[in-house]
Amino acid sequence: MERPSLMVANWKMYKTIHAARAFGVELLRRMEEDPGPRGLTQVLCPTALALAPLAERLRGSAIRVGAQNLDLGVEGPRTGALSAYLLRDAGAEYVIVGHSERRQEFAEDDDLVAAKVVEALKGQLTPIVCVGETRDERDHGLTETVVTRQIERVLSAVTPDREVVFAYEPVWAIGSGRTPTASEAEQVAQLMRNLIGRSWPGTDALVRVLYGGSVNRDSIRTFAEHTSFDGVLVGGASLDVDHWLDINRRWGEVRC
Ligand code: PEP
Repeated sequence: MERPSLMVANWKMYKTIHAARAFGVELLRRMEEDPGPRGLTQVLCPTALALAPLAERLRGSAIRVGAQNLDLGVEGPRTGALSAYLLRDAGAEYVIVGHSERRQEFAEDDDLVAAKVVEALKGQLTPIVCVGETRDERDHGLTETVVTRQIERVLSAVTPDREVVFAYEPVWAIGSGRTPTASEAEQVAQLMRNLIGRSWPGTDALVRVLYGGSVNRDSIRTFAEHTSFDGVLVGGASLDVDHWLDINRRWGEVRC
């Protein structure tokens, strides 16, 4: 069974509330003129501050909103923290977990990532779990080992009774303008699918695996045509409405 495509925009620490809302307004306007491909879900992940205003602006539309991170717990004395419960209240339906920038800059390890996935699911958010190797790990032939370790920690922590999305994001490809070849990326997609199938038998039609790392309007066709990924996670190229729409359109021309 074909899994519906998922296109995720990660805006990282960019866009003020005003800019995020303006993007939403413009996106809706453009999609009214040309709805673009059917059978594809867009998820915009703004900063936590822009979540509620953007979700409010997009309410009633087909575009979903996601958070970029969550903290553990529900409510409590945890200064600066944001729980799944609060993110959901602000309008998020998805949450990115284990992005390499969080693993590296905020020292998030596999155990914390798994705990966050559990919290996301408890809080009715769909986690988008990022895995991927560094350049050094790839050069040392460790891609399979690293991705297996990262994904298995999550697979063993939760049962697949709610949706979990995985994203293969080679760390060296993020923001670098470099991407793996389609066949290199596809090898990892197959590895991830095998690991998911082994731990969660029978979920093949439900678990989406995305690719992320320097996707843009030029490289998107390669991933759409020559890999089995179910969509993409896009950073830099998702900040501009035209560029984002082109990525969605080109993916849809091949897949939807
Ligand atoms: C990301 O931040 O997840 C990402 C894929 O970024 P970029 O598209 O800019 O490489």
